[in-house]
Amino acid sequence: MYTKRGVGVGVGVGVGVGAGSKTEMSSRVSHNEDLKRIKEALDKRDRSSPSTSRIKDNNNTIIKDQQRSLSILSAPTNNHPSPTVEESETDSEESDVSGSDGEDTSWISWFCNLRGNESFCEVDDDYIQDDFNLCGLSNQVPYYDYALDLILDVESSHGDMFTEEQNELIESAAEMLYGLIHVRYILTTKGQAAMLEKYKNAEFGRCPRVYCCGQPCLPVGQSDIPRHCTLKIYCPKCEDIYTPRSRFQDNLDGAYFGTTFPHLFLMTYGHLKPQKTSQTYVPRVFGFKVHKP
Ligand SMILES: [Zn+2]
Repeated sequence: MYTKRGVGVGVGVGVGVGAGSKTEMSSRVSHNEDLKRIKEALDKRDRSSPSTSRIKDNNNTIIKDQQRSLSILSAPTNNHPSPTVEESETDSEESDVSGSDGEDTSWISWFCNLRGNESFCEVDDDYIQDDFNLCGLSNQVPYYDYALDLILDVESSHGDMFTEEQNELIESAAEMLYGLIHVRYILTTKGQAAMLEKYKNAEFGRCPRVYCCGQPCLPVGQSDIPRHCTLKIYCPKCEDIYTPRSRFQDNLDGAYFGTTFPHLFLMTYGHLKPQKTSQTYVPRVFGFKVHKP
């Protein structure tokens, strides 16, 4: 069902909140060329409708940001040859989508299976449907209601009302909303259990420090405010944080994982906390320790 939506959609970037700090975040997702091509195709199809122009004007800046940060898009019915994706400035790796086999894939599993989004766990529908859990998010996410419908696979009667461009904005808002729900969910018992599975499989990456001997890490944000920091990984052994090795991971917003998660997680699963390593690296010159005055 979501295969048609295309590939490698960037995570929560380019929605018009907190403008100015997102250049870093959008590095993996500038695909103006693709967007231009798609727009041309759309113009041909004459999809624009007068009823939507108002929204478009009001959110002009959002749209501009979106253009800057949109990741690869696919135009399902356009007549351009498929190489659109392959031609894009990022390498074709990004066009890989796993988990796109079934027609019945829910938006959530589709999203979590996109390349680069492996660190996200799948949030329970029940959790999202409980308004209490979403308290305060409607102020932070544009197109909130539509984004929520999209996440929950609620068939919206507005679907045909929007231009392709607006659908992209909603898609982007849905990603941000999912991230902000996710950061809350992974602090719950169920969320931690879901993250435990991933931790056991070292899906968040391993500590690059030699003396940590490949210790699996946990995702962490340096800020709880969206678009302030990218995702980092926390090593429970040396108790330090690192930039993820995978550049896909590196472009995720740290606020979708938050500052609390790894520490609460290790309190919950205390037995998983590794012994702190006592080994430290000693610089030597011709075998002698370097004298520090
Ligand atoms: Zn370490």
